[in-house]
Amino acid sequence: MGDALESQADEASYETIEHDWHEECGVFGVWRHPDAARLANYALYALQHRGQESAGIAVVDGPVLRHHRGMGLVSEAFTQADLAALTGHAAIGHVRYSTTGSSTLANAQPLVFAFRQGNLALAHNGNLVNAAQIRDQLDEEGSIFQSTSDTEVVAHLIARGGHRDFVENVRAGMKRIEGGYALVLLTNNCLVALRDPNGLRPLALGQLDGMHVVASETCAFDAIGASFVRDVEPGEMIVIDDHGLRAERFATAERKALCTFEYIYFARPDSDIDGMNVHLARKRLGRMLARTCPVEADVVTGVPDSSISAAIGFAEEAGIPYEIALVKNRYVGRTFIQPTQEQRREGVRLKLNAVRQVVEGKRVVIVDDSIVRGTTSARLIDLVRAAGATEAHMRISSPPVTHPCYYGIDTSDRTKLIAAHQSIAEIQKRIGADSLAYLTKEQMLEAFGMGDVKSHPFCNACFTGRYPTRLPAAPRALVGTSVAIRASRASRNGRE
Ligand code: AMP
Ligand code: SF4
Repeated sequence: MGDALESQADEASYETIEHDWHEECGVFGVWRHPDAARLANYALYALQHRGQESAGIAVVDGPVLRHHRGMGLVSEAFTQADLAALTGHAAIGHVRYSTTGSSTLANAQPLVFAFRQGNLALAHNGNLVNAAQIRDQLDEEGSIFQSTSDTEVVAHLIARGGHRDFVENVRAGMKRIEGGYALVLLTNNCLVALRDPNGLRPLALGQLDGMHVVASETCAFDAIGASFVRDVEPGEMIVIDDHGLRAERFATAERKALCTFEYIYFARPDSDIDGMNVHLARKRLGRMLARTCPVEADVVTGVPDSSISAAIGFAEEAGIPYEIALVKNRYVGRTFIQPTQEQRREGVRLKLNAVRQVVEGKRVVIVDDSIVRGTTSARLIDLVRAAGATEAHMRISSPPVTHPCYYGIDTSDRTKLIAAHQSIAEIQKRIGADSLAYLTKEQMLEAFGMGDVKSHPFCNACFTGRYPTRLPAAPRALVGTSVAIRASRASRNGRE
């Protein structure tokens, strides 16, 4: 193994700022397809909502591993010529979202390595909570890193596995990793897909013309005409090669803790995650919101795109007409991608507009999926009032976000989370709404169909501060002693 490693990466220099913890990404893998790179490209288009900062594909072609990574959207990262040059029978792909801290091509994925056992490409979604610790250790032992990405830590651990068999090395390496992740690995001989022991991040298995595919979300299967087979289980490793597929556990499954935010905001409504359709789950949240936090109003609207399903549910349950009162400019990226608060504000202004004819003289309910910093809600209330709404009520289809996420969702550090420091009444005043209401955690779980809300299979840590795994030893995203104390408490006892 390990013959040739070809890179088309345009190693242009981008400003490298300190690495930040938060990444939200999408991964894809296919084994044995004559046009693997093109298939990966289509799948990445479908997963684009999971990351717009960079995109990349690695393919294997006999003894050769080729890759291309670029900054920006999938359409910007790949030209037709780039794709045509990626000949090979198997591929993995990645779309990446991160805060500005790591906006660099060196951190774009898949990362590729040549090591003793051959070529290796890795792509991952999520966050490894002990990556910094392991990295320090490896650093001290003389390892040289080419990026600031957690993913590279995994590559080092695999390369140091000491076994002759690659899969054995993966198993050994992953024993040391903690966190929430969906990981795909590609060598000249196999494709390996792994989901973390808590099942924090989603990963699904599909089939296309008898070939196996894996993806963060099932919407990628629909885009390439593949059919859904099943979700990868927490702590499960799937190995796909020319002999077929074998599935095994690489870790004992911990308490299942699928990220609730995948349903609330992050995933595409046409995806099914762990057996639940995202659109229908959001509708149920909206219905629950209408039942628990009713309001007299003339019109219900959703914040495009992620809150439309919840708003439809709210409107149906409340018997108030649903209207398109807010229009999104689809050519502006997600607001969080803007690096500063000021730019974020401008992003919101560019991104959304109110439909005057719909809201003028009306009592309007705006349903949004979450309030993080409070910037968007304040702007939305301003927008509908400026367009003539007589009342503007805000309904949030999730609980207040009070804690940061360590598992790959950018919910910002705690100092910036408005609900960590202000009561609901204070937030209402701050955003200028006539009323504001959220779901409670219990109501959210009930809406998801969890009869017994104590034994639910979800992570709710950003709403409760009770994390399903240990936390980073010196969490870089935590600011302030009270949070640090909470974090160490959470690491000692804090399994929800
Ligand atoms: P904020 O303006 O900071 O309160 O952000 C809330 C808005 O951002 C809501 O409209 C959400 O739909 C959206 N949002 C929530 N979580 C995230 C996230 N992790 N990344 C990007 N946008 C998000
Ligand atoms: Fe998802 Fe929140 Fe848990 Fe992070 S902390 S994995 S955003 S539920």
